[in-house]
Amino acid sequence: MAVTQETLSYLDPARPEPWASFIEQIDRVAPHLGHLSHWIETLKRPKRILIVDVPIVRDDGSIAHFEGYRVQHNLSRGPGKGGVRFHPAVSLNEVMALSGWMTVKNAALGLPYGGAKGGIRIDPRQFSRGELERITRRYTSEIGIVIGPDKDIPAPDVGTSEQTMAWMMDTYSVNVGHTASGVVTGKPIALGGSLGRQEATGRGVYIAAREAGRRMGVAIDGARVVVQGFGNVGGIAARIFRENGAKVVALQDAEATIANPAGIDIPATLVHVAAHGSLSGFFGAEPISEEEFWHLESDYFVPAALEGQVTPERARGLRTKIVVEGANGPTTPAADDILRDRYILVVPDVLANAGGVTVSYFEWVQDFSSFFWTEDEINARLEGIMVKAFDAIWHTAQERRVSIRTAAFIIACERVLAAREQRGLYP
Ligand code: NAD
Repeated sequence: MAVTQETLSYLDPARPEPWASFIEQIDRVAPHLGHLSHWIETLKRPKRILIVDVPIVRDDGSIAHFEGYRVQHNLSRGPGKGGVRFHPAVSLNEVMALSGWMTVKNAALGLPYGGAKGGIRIDPRQFSRGELERITRRYTSEIGIVIGPDKDIPAPDVGTSEQTMAWMMDTYSVNVGHTASGVVTGKPIALGGSLGRQEATGRGVYIAAREAGRRMGVAIDGARVVVQGFGNVGGIAARIFRENGAKVVALQDAEATIANPAGIDIPATLVHVAAHGSLSGFFGAEPISEEEFWHLESDYFVPAALEGQVTPERARGLRTKIVVEGANGPTTPAADDILRDRYILVVPDVLANAGGVTVSYFEWVQDFSSFFWTEDEINARLEGIMVKAFDAIWHTAQERRVSIRTAAFIIACERVLAAREQRGLYP
């Protein structure tokens, strides 16, 4: 049976990234999928795209309109799952790529979800709390036709927080007429959130780094770590690295780049960022240039900001042993090849940052059963799932002689496409 190949007419050919990177990753895995590669086109086009207008009354009485998205990339294995991003660079292309990576991540970890993602193109720092609440509520109401506890479950991402999730949960619940805590994850504890969720992505990044280091002979104790992005993911990962004996020697956020060869005091840095909103002005480290940052010597390099940061040029200059992708899509496929040729191991996003969605899954299960676990239980189960997924992916990489990323994609795509095949096409 021939497979129909068409370009997606709704994408701007002049701005192919990051969807083009996702497609290239899918193309790289196709030859490893045997007869299932027959279904590969399924992964190259999102199942469903919703674009919504989000109008609000601003504090000064004027009316402003924003563009919002919810993309459900694949629902073959279960409801959609993926975060909501508020950032000025959000585009349909970006949300599509992020939704595709969620399909792969959820399947690679064995979570019973498809992949989805959402976003609004705004700079949240330019709006008052009241305006952000109105934007969030109107967006939630507009995407209400496709989300729900058994349809698609959003969570926080860049620029959104547990407060955003509280507003989303409340708006959805008011609209359906009953409290539906399972419609989002990453909620405050008082609303059915899970212990350990806020830390989960950073904790998972640390677990993935530790497992990679164990196999590569790079101990965490005494390791030099460089982290790009000091938000929910980078900040927590840096803290847990330090608690386990590593030295975080450099940090970068959107406003500043700082280094201290003796190790940065992460708890003090977190306090500074909570008070001032950025690393800028932190006294316990020296400002360094962007150029120096990408050439610093380290054992672990953790990109935990945005996609497309590790470019081919930066990949040629990186002086590290292991890259652990806290962010989604931080390494371009061309940069991936350069790192491989330089024997720098890359622990890919779909494995390294999967701790967040894993504890989101726990939160959703707890909401359904109205029975809540202790933080120790959460962390033990997270550890169990991450280590099991790491072992399986590592084993596949060795067996098939492919990168860890391709191995993760092989396992994930086999699961998604087997589900697709078994369900069959309707009608
Ligand atoms: P966040 O908004 O909490 O933090 C983002 C950080 O990146 C901030 O420190 C910001 O200053 C910095 N940053 C932004 N642009 C930058 C630039 N150009 N250069 C350097 N630093 C820059 O977001 P987050 O939740 O920590 O998410 C970070 C990444 O991790 C994203 O790719 C996100 O999709 C991914 N991720 C997040 C979660 C989660 O649970 N929050 C889960 C999985 C993956």
